Amino acid sequence: MRAGSSVKNAFSALAWLSFYVLFCIAPLLLALGHPSSTGRSFLIDFSVALGFVGLSMLAFQFVLIARFKVVAAPFGIDALLKFHIQITFVGLIFVVAHPVLLFIADAQYLALLNPVTALWRARFAVLSVLALLVLIGLSVWRKRLRLRYEVWKLTHGLIAVAVVLFGLLHASLVGYFVTGTLRHLLFEGYIGILIFLLVWVRLISPLMRLRRPWRVVEVKPERGNATTLVIAPVGHDGFRFKPGQFGWIAIGRSPFSITQHPFSFSSAADTQPGGSISMTIKVAGDFTETISRVEAGTRVYVDGPHGVFSMDQRQGPGYVLVAGGVGVTPMYSMLLTMLVREDVRPVTLFYASATWEDVVLREELEQLSDRMPNFNLIHVIGTPPPDWDGEVGRISVEMLERRLPAQYRRYEFLICGSTPMMDAMEEALAQVGVPYSQVSSERFDMI
Ligand SMILES: Cc1cc2nc3c(=O)[nH]c(=O)nc-3n(C[C@H](O)[C@H](O)[C@H](O)COP(=O)(O)OP(=O)(O)OC[C@H]3O[C@@H](n4cnc5c(N)ncnc54)[C@H](O)[C@@H]3O)c2cc1C
Repeated sequence: MRAGSSVKNAFSALAWLSFYVLFCIAPLLLALGHPSSTGRSFLIDFSVALGFVGLSMLAFQFVLIARFKVVAAPFGIDALLKFHIQITFVGLIFVVAHPVLLFIADAQYLALLNPVTALWRARFAVLSVLALLVLIGLSVWRKRLRLRYEVWKLTHGLIAVAVVLFGLLHASLVGYFVTGTLRHLLFEGYIGILIFLLVWVRLISPLMRLRRPWRVVEVKPERGNATTLVIAPVGHDGFRFKPGQFGWIAIGRSPFSITQHPFSFSSAADTQPGGSISMTIKVAGDFTETISRVEAGTRVYVDGPHGVFSMDQRQGPGYVLVAGGVGVTPMYSMLLTMLVREDVRPVTLFYASATWEDVVLREELEQLSDRMPNFNLIHVIGTPPPDWDGEVGRISVEMLERRLPAQYRRYEFLICGSTPMMDAMEEALAQVGVPYSQVSSERFDMI
């Protein structure tokens, strides 16, 4: 990333953060000086304020997951999704603090919890909070509940709409701070944004992809239960991407389908107009299990490129890549791109695999290593074959100290693998003195 574009990114990140804060406190700003707040205790006004901020935060969640490139550009869609998850808990605290403070201010408010006698404005509030709790519970315990990803995704969207809608109905019917024009502005404005986002995500964005189809041109079996799909644009120029970026794909189904799956591009970036791109996909569940049976000619829709996990985002005098299993795919794209660009900066890849036979893209990496004198390939095998004389077990602090290049503290580090490996690596790199700011990571199970 050049200095100019990093300054631009910093500015647009700051602009979006300011907009975010403004959006969340917008109802309060609108209410400033509004006469309806007179006559109530500070605690009640404060609790209402918290409720408004919580509701705005939850409403903004739809913007975060709408995959707007302009919003994602300075942060990366992966970071936005992480923020989306974490900020839900903050929103929950605000939303729950609102009734708790009300009850503290005046115990009579407890009667609002009685669904039989309470007015609809109170029922909507209870429904909104309950829906939010269900939404969070299903997300946190999805795997334990054995909920299929597709089912979770559909219910997640529907419940999220219910949370915000019930919350808005409650705020509008109660009318604290917001009455008359203000109430209309707030209620209709938020509803308008919600509808626009739903139309964007479910209609406009898929329509745009429908007009830019791709087709499978090659299906290549790989080691480690993986398959490389090569896809080419049909009737358009395709796109260029940064090495390490990913796209959401829908194969053999319409771009309107609820679920698309994210995969890193495993081909060289800087594609020529009309050029094909590849993805190397390992079996992880019901969708990925079908990939090896995909036939040439099958239609594919790609939403991308997305993500900031790229060496182009992090310029350094050299690179250390750390991959586990299929986490090697973005690294392979970065290495191929370096070869194509004749980039001679030193690059080391620590690549952990369960067995030697499981090493995804093994031959391809060996070929790269032969062609790139600046590339140091270090395989780390969990259970190696009897004649193995390379690294064994897991990537450890001791191994890093022994095998890292002399200048490593000045290099950029990019890591991608399973969650336990990523956690261990982030800790290990800190222990060997790699500054946190020089470590970038991509989690394939971020959702
Ligand atoms: C940024 C990114 C890049 C990735 N790149 C690659 C890659 O290059 N190669 C590769 O083999 N895998 C990659 N993955 C992982 C891949 O997306 C999942 O393994 C795949 O979607 C699993 O789908 P499934 O239906 O077969 O399995 P399931 O059993 O349905 O899911 C297994 C797990 O994968 C995740 N997952 C499932 N569906 C989705 C979805 N639609 N969106 C997001 N996550 C989902 C969930 O955490 C789920 O628990 C990447 C993931 C991310 C987030």
